[in-house]
Amino acid sequence: MSSSSQVKVAVRVRPLLTKERSQSKSQTLTDFSSNALSFKGTQFTYDHVFSSTFTQTDLYAETAAPMLRPFLDGYNVTIMAYGQTGSGKTYTMGTNDISLQSNEDELGLIPRFVTDLFANITTNDPTKSCVSISFLEIYGEDVYDLMNEDRIAITNARSSLSVREDIKGGVFIEGLKEIPVTCALEALKALSDGSKTRITASTAMNAGSSRSHAVFTVTLVQYPQDDNGIQNQNGFDDNLPIESSIQTESRLVSKLTFVDLAGSERIKKTGAEGQRMKEGIQINGGLFNLGQVINSLADDQKLKSGKGSSFVNYRNSKLTHLLKDALGGNSQTLFVACVSPAESNESETYSTLVYARQARNIQNKPIMNIDQTQLELRRLRY
Ligand code: ADP
Ligand code: MG
Repeated sequence: MSSSSQVKVAVRVRPLLTKERSQSKSQTLTDFSSNALSFKGTQFTYDHVFSSTFTQTDLYAETAAPMLRPFLDGYNVTIMAYGQTGSGKTYTMGTNDISLQSNEDELGLIPRFVTDLFANITTNDPTKSCVSISFLEIYGEDVYDLMNEDRIAITNARSSLSVREDIKGGVFIEGLKEIPVTCALEALKALSDGSKTRITASTAMNAGSSRSHAVFTVTLVQYPQDDNGIQNQNGFDDNLPIESSIQTESRLVSKLTFVDLAGSERIKKTGAEGQRMKEGIQINGGLFNLGQVINSLADDQKLKSGKGSSFVNYRNSKLTHLLKDALGGNSQTLFVACVSPAESNESETYSTLVYARQARNIQNKPIMNIDQTQLELRRLRY
């Protein structure tokens, strides 16, 4: 039920934008194959490479769609988009207002996955399965609920939530709203509404949504059924040995996490008025820690000496704490690195390619998430 699984990495190149078309002398990325590309003569290899000719449908079919089956089987799945502002992260993930999307072909990974999910489960019977969603934003070290109407009403009175761990080391956000949904449309409406709040709130803070990370989570709970599709109320068939009843008669709880990361570009920072003018280069703290976590996990993998692993400090930032399972933990993870082909973006494109190559060295340990509570109850009866 548990196996090692490498973080899968896809690189996606967006088309040149109109204004780049007139400025750009040449494309920085060449020699595309299905899993490799060249950047100014250096070759980079990944699990998937999508040049700008590939559509949203192609991307979904090759990367996210194959993760639906494991999700239905009880495995956690994480899909995250990384890249500089304007490289196509939000377009790729679909973390935007889908009512603005007139063309279905343009839909991103989230609406496609959620639609396919509901097509594959029984939604009109809560004794079989339940789906709930949550949507949050991490701005600096503050976590904000994007589905909390109170917050939407008073934009300036946003209260930051805490990241906590339960006794088994599971990470959760205290006080985050989790809304039950019964169809894809309901889930996607909440996604659209929340993403609008994200933009408004960030603009009010004069920050731009590119400085925040957006995390959309779908939790699927599936209940055991007997041969006739009827839920086994007491949970177990007492005639069967405990182990053989695990798969068929325990609750499966799987989590799907979509992360639209903040822009990875370095931001020229000018000191506030009244202070000595000071110019520095600053990168988003959460992304910096994410890079550190990726590096130490990747180095561990390269060493593979059996001497134990180095300490990975997930708690250095809210982002990495929240992504603890996605990186090196209990999840099947897809990392989509978005890049621009424009010459003016070449240094960011290069650093994104290097970052993504490093992420590919991470080994996760996904397990089928069987809720042990009922199993424990039965053990206690004997
Ligand atoms: P980011 O979220 O990384 O800041 P966006 O997703 O907002 O970037 O993309 C920037 C712009 O480029 C948007 O106008 C988006 O529609 C467009 N774009 C991004 N990727 C693609 C793509 N693969 N095909 C067509 N347009 C794209
Ligand atoms: Mg964006």
